[in-house]
Amino acid sequence: METIKQVVIVGGGTAGWMTAAALSRVLGDKVKLTLIESDDIGTVGVGESTIPMIKLFNTVLGIDEDEFMRATQATFKLGIEFNDWGRVGDSYMHGFGIFGQDLATLPFYQYWLRLQQAGKAPDIENYSINRMAAKAGKFMRADRSHGNSPLGDIVHAFHLDAGLYARYLRQYSEAKGVRRIEGKVVDALTRASDGHVDAVRMENGDLIGGELFIDCSGFRGLLIEQALHTGFEDWSHWLPCDRAWAVPCELSGELLPYTRATARPAGWQWRIGLQHRTGNGHVYSSKFMNDEAARALLMANLDGRPLAEPKLLRFTAGKRKQVWNKNVVAVGLSSGFLEPLESTSIHLIQSTIARLITFFPDRGFSAADVAEFNRQCDFEVERIRDFIILHYHATERDDTPFWNYVRTMDIPDTLRAKMDLWRSRGRIVRNDNELFAEVGWLQVLQGQRVPVEGHHPLADLMEEKEVADYLGDIASVIGQCVNQMPSHAAYIKARCAAK
Ligand code: FAD
Repeated sequence: METIKQVVIVGGGTAGWMTAAALSRVLGDKVKLTLIESDDIGTVGVGESTIPMIKLFNTVLGIDEDEFMRATQATFKLGIEFNDWGRVGDSYMHGFGIFGQDLATLPFYQYWLRLQQAGKAPDIENYSINRMAAKAGKFMRADRSHGNSPLGDIVHAFHLDAGLYARYLRQYSEAKGVRRIEGKVVDALTRASDGHVDAVRMENGDLIGGELFIDCSGFRGLLIEQALHTGFEDWSHWLPCDRAWAVPCELSGELLPYTRATARPAGWQWRIGLQHRTGNGHVYSSKFMNDEAARALLMANLDGRPLAEPKLLRFTAGKRKQVWNKNVVAVGLSSGFLEPLESTSIHLIQSTIARLITFFPDRGFSAADVAEFNRQCDFEVERIRDFIILHYHATERDDTPFWNYVRTMDIPDTLRAKMDLWRSRGRIVRNDNELFAEVGWLQVLQGQRVPVEGHHPLADLMEEKEVADYLGDIASVIGQCVNQMPSHAAYIKARCAAK
């Protein structure tokens, strides 16, 4: 069996440098790492909104969070605000973190559902410190020094400049011995015996060989698709958005501690505030809107002066049939794509790297390991796909052909089962390692007005007044905590403002 001595990473975007940083940190001298990237081709240049798991990635790397924030012009993110999704005029947030406090064996929200169905509950946001703080433009990191105060429940992620993040990770990786080669890969040499990639050929004729190749070449899928013809499972019948215009603009107004996602006639628009600029993009379906109209809509809805010409990106929702095929593992856009509605792509890079480390091959490749690795990748991305489809499908909007299509389309059975469970008794079941927890589904199901007929019968065991008092106390404590918190801008200025 062949020993893995050389790992070659093709591509130096967020995926490539995250892979290089993590493998150099975890594997040390066990293998030699080479990363190839092309300055001429460049990177996709978007990908600014993250979810809280990225903190774990930084921790594993031993990165100081304030330093990372300064280096990437980052701001804090407490959740995503969805405007005009269920109906035009609606607004709700998917905030990170918990809701209220669970009682005995029942999740908190079941008591809220009971009161809500009796017409006596305030908006569910009152029970989430993340949502209330975000709404007030406040931020602080979780502070667990006050017993079980909600201040200890704050959960954050970041908005960051993707280009600066890749540069930061490059410095980190090169300091740990990763060799960087600049240049274009023109093709891959595969072995006749088993079809494994032996080497990649550079434009100048150099051959870069290795035993394991990580394809981080972006949408091209240089190795996983162009060399190995792995195949792609197309999900665009469920997620018809296939293009985006992206443009940065000058900062204006308050520094929001959340991402904003506003529904548009054939898609949606993001707004991500960084320390030095605001990132904007309009994701849309080219079947329902032409490029010029989509561009004009974006440019008419910016908060500040544009800082560049808008850039058009094309994509297809779906996944590679095997993320790991022969001796190639696809990480990042080469492995598939889900639109950035819930900011999950950078997380998928991280989880694929973590999985690669778990199943890291030392001598040769075990078919059982590869199969389990691929099964886990499929499970994770399919459940995220369902969650994203929910945002489109669970709508009352009938004002454009796009919204009529997504509202009435067939959905995956796995999503239908989740929605049916919710509709009957408000139950939400999280299986295995699904990324989104019950409270994530709760906020979107509820925020998108998916009707629910009942609640868990055990929630009726308490007197209604007792339930109302319990909920009222939680909301009041959260309100007091938010009052004490500094503004998002003040917190950044005091701790992690870029120079
Ligand atoms: P790329 O950035 O495309 O990098 C590919 C690399 O491969 C480059 O270095 C390139 O030079 C190199 N390369 C390619 N071909 C060759 C060759 N022949 N020779 C040598 N080198 C080569 N994710 C989030 O988590 N949050 C978000 O908010 C978010 N927003 C997004 C918005 C849009 C519209 C899109 C399209 C994506 C978004 N993403 C988001 C996804 C995110 O941008 C990507 O997951 C992330 O940037 C990783 O990209 P990558 O490194 O796989 O590919």
